[in-house]
Amino acid sequence: MTAASKSPQCWIRPEIRALTAYHVPAAGARIKLDAMENPYRWPTELVEQWLDTLRSVELNRYPDPGAQELSDKLRHAMGVPDAMQLLLGNGSDELIQMLALAVAGPDRVVLSPDPSFVMYRMIAEVVGLRYQSVPLSGDFSLPREAMLSAIEQTQPAIVFLAYPNNPTGNLFDAAVVEELIGAAPGLVVVDEAYAPFTSASFMSRLGEFANLLVLRTVSKMGLAGLRLGLLAGPAEWLGQIDKTRLPYNINVLTQASALFALQHKTILDAQAQQICADRATLLRVMQTLDGITVYPSEANFVLFRTPPGQANDVFAALKQQDILIKNLSPSGGRLRDCLRVTVGRPDENEAFAHALKDALRS
Ligand code: PMP
Repeated sequence: MTAASKSPQCWIRPEIRALTAYHVPAAGARIKLDAMENPYRWPTELVEQWLDTLRSVELNRYPDPGAQELSDKLRHAMGVPDAMQLLLGNGSDELIQMLALAVAGPDRVVLSPDPSFVMYRMIAEVVGLRYQSVPLSGDFSLPREAMLSAIEQTQPAIVFLAYPNNPTGNLFDAAVVEELIGAAPGLVVVDEAYAPFTSASFMSRLGEFANLLVLRTVSKMGLAGLRLGLLAGPAEWLGQIDKTRLPYNINVLTQASALFALQHKTILDAQAQQICADRATLLRVMQTLDGITVYPSEANFVLFRTPPGQANDVFAALKQQDILIKNLSPSGGRLRDCLRVTVGRPDENEAFAHALKDALRS
């Protein structure tokens, strides 16, 4: 065996070597508004109660493999129709991966509009699927004709639609989404990660379409650290996708903590309401700033466009103030000059708006 044969170049698949690793900046900024997290912690007495429930968790035992009790509570909390089945994942990312693994094969296609959630592409490429994207319209709406013709041409195994979309923040036209579900030969996954911040949803419509699945997560409602997502849909599909799941994928601490959190969901709901109110304030303030275009949002973040060529400087100026947002400009295309800010606490939003105003002036 030669030395070269022991090298990654020799053994790591070319598709993987060609990928750029998903970059997550190290935490630690004074004001962290880059990852669509809920900025609120629990009141101290609730933290104490939660820790009490963890005392009885048996770390020496494997978790309930089907996380049955948690599944039942999630079904109720998320309004999953009775006739539909649920599949839980270690974050909704893992469910996207399970979906991709279940359909992967040569010449199989995953389709989504662009820009959208980057993991659709990454996961598709990692499992050896062909990823096809369709550019969103100038106003970030779903381009009906182009999507229909891409479906016709590529016959995708899965179409992913983030609803509201990340990173643009808007909801697609529900009538167009319905049309795409009708036209798609395979699955359409409506990814409702930002459901806590909008009243629009396809959850209650699951029974109407044989090929529709709805993806949710507890991350944006305030439990990002638990890593828990759920996929809802017809049993015929989920029974198959479940076969790609690793045993015990929802650990005991997540199961116990999520159960506890769901008993106190009113607190999380109130936080989401607060975030929606603060989103409106933040949007209003940002709209008064000269030089930027601010896009409407149904999620817990706001996308905005700087004057041409200034996004990197604005991002750096904010970082200088220890305010971390997301710079999307390097992705290019329709996101050139775009930055995305997560709605934080009112004091954080104010500090951000203040620093942004300064950055745009300089
Ligand atoms: N879907 C969308 C549209 C997202 O924006 C995200 C996270 N940013 C996810 C899914 C993944 O969420 P998680 O893995 O935390 O459940």
